[in-house]
Amino acid sequence: MAAKGAHITPNIEVKPSLFEVLAADSLNITFYPAIKRVVDFLAAAKPAVFGGLVRYYDEFYLVFNGLVQGYYIKQYGGSLAEVFYGLTRQSLRSKTFSRKDRNWSFVVLVLVPYAVRKLEKACARWKEDYENAKHVPAHRKQLFRLLPYLQACYEGAKLIHYVSYLANVTKTHSPSLRVLELGLTYLSEEEESWSFKDVLQGKVRVATMISAALLRWLELSAFFLQFIEWWQTEANIGDLSKLPIPDAPDQDSNANKYANVCPICLQKHIIPTAVSVSGYVYCYRCIATHLQRESRCPVTKYPATINDLIGIYTGDDD
Ligand SMILES: [Zn+2]
Repeated sequence: MAAKGAHITPNIEVKPSLFEVLAADSLNITFYPAIKRVVDFLAAAKPAVFGGLVRYYDEFYLVFNGLVQGYYIKQYGGSLAEVFYGLTRQSLRSKTFSRKDRNWSFVVLVLVPYAVRKLEKACARWKEDYENAKHVPAHRKQLFRLLPYLQACYEGAKLIHYVSYLANVTKTHSPSLRVLELGLTYLSEEEESWSFKDVLQGKVRVATMISAALLRWLELSAFFLQFIEWWQTEANIGDLSKLPIPDAPDQDSNANKYANVCPICLQKHIIPTAVSVSGYVYCYRCIATHLQRESRCPVTKYPATINDLIGIYTGDDD
């Protein structure tokens, strides 16, 4: 009876190996830079369409991460990376995963990383301002000086948790799970499966099929993202890392007006000279005289100096 009892004990006490939990952690931190790489690639190819995504990448990622992690936490009780490695979260006390656990997991997986990234970026900005001799309030100065120590403490706490998890002293491998009083365990194999006959007889709901397809797609993407991560670390090696050539800049509305004439004297260019910041071409004498009076391109009003002039050699000069 005792033997049977031991046999039917759920696998709650079976602890995933350190390798598995580390794999899930490292996959989780891969998503942010990997998707960033994809977004950068798209923005380089189509700046008009995807430029905004680069600018508001943190917010875009917040929404994306929120949707994905929210789904996986609700459906499988773990983050995408944990579920990918067959793991799920469980309270250390009650051995369940309550609504409260779900909500706090969402906060720690989605909202906290966003806030931390924003803080890190703000600190980097303040530090730069400070180094450029701009005024930075005292509390901001303290914050950016303190941040590296806080990060070192967190990394130290992570290491201690890994070691104590390995040595079976603690049941959780990370400080964030410990704060939530959660541990990782194996996901039970309850995969919804159906045959084509079931589909034809209308036994399988469309929503179920779509969600299963989405799940497969996400899991495949996880592998793909790891590949992208590798690509990122191998940057500058081979042709793969070369970004596509962006579209040519839009034609300026004034460009036709000054076709083949100097915008200042409205005659054919004498010693054609371009202002590098605007791209407009003038006679050398016209533009040099103008820039001595006013440090701007006459057409676009972009700030320019004599140093921004470039001689143009088209070959048809007189
Ligand atoms: Zn001229």
